[in-house]
Amino acid sequence: MREILVNGLSEMGLSPTGEQIEKLEEYARLLLEQNQVMNLTAITEPEQVARLHFLDSAAILGVEQRGAEGLTTERSENAAGGQAAQSIFAQSEELGPEASTSLRNPTRLSGKTVIDVGTGAGFPGVVLKILEPSLQLTLVDSLGKRVHWLETVCEALSLDGVRCIHARAEELALESGFRDAFDLAVSRAVAAYPLLCELCLPYVKPGGVFIAMKSVESGREVESGESAVKRLGAKALGSWDYAIPGTDVTHRLVMAGKLGPTPKGLPRSWGKIKKSPL
Ligand code: SAM
Repeated sequence: MREILVNGLSEMGLSPTGEQIEKLEEYARLLLEQNQVMNLTAITEPEQVARLHFLDSAAILGVEQRGAEGLTTERSENAAGGQAAQSIFAQSEELGPEASTSLRNPTRLSGKTVIDVGTGAGFPGVVLKILEPSLQLTLVDSLGKRVHWLETVCEALSLDGVRCIHARAEELALESGFRDAFDLAVSRAVAAYPLLCELCLPYVKPGGVFIAMKSVESGREVESGESAVKRLGAKALGSWDYAIPGTDVTHRLVMAGKLGPTPKGLPRSWGKIKKSPL
């Protein structure tokens, strides 16, 4: 597992310390141990956990480490390439001074507030926190048992500055301190894009970004979320396809930037979100 992580992260432009690799190994051990008694993941081989959970989650840091030029190169190397990956940097200028500074800086995630919506067993949030300890991380999930387990994981791995919250995303986003409050919202494998936008974009402050982790087959789904992005006071920033090192799997980061505060009345109840997506 160690070799897979060190080589894979280095391929993604990241240079983890020995301590960070040890924490990832311990996280995998805790995950697979608990998975025997609680449904946390369908992936049960340590090597596959390293690739399909850890390296995949780390892609969000890969995108920041490379910077605009790296992304352009990656995009042209990657035949499946999504829409202009560098647009997160270029277009972020239109989001205002705060976003253009934070997103154009290669270490822009350092010290930022990040919320992982529907984190499950902690993906991508816990991996991001291990690899970028300065993040102020909030993990949200509607399943209490998973959230309680995540609390024990954060303690076991000595991760400071992490809140584990048992809540429904669409309800928590109505509370002050959460609404329009985060630099970055991330989410992986939670809902179709139009629904996911309503769950996640309300957390992002003006100038901040929402990154949805999607499959490369998500083109139509993402297109059908265009109106939701606009209705929530945001703007599509494009997407970036990345290959997970050591696999033939390619996934996609879909990015949207928040232009202003979340309109009143949003997000709606889950019943309404599901019945009539924005
Ligand atoms: N993000 C993790 C990953 O990539 O492995 C977990 C994905 S799992 C398929 C979806 C998770 O989203 C579940 O843990 C579920 O409880 C949570 N979830 C679904 N809808 C939610 C909502 N409205 N609010 C909070 N959590 C939600």
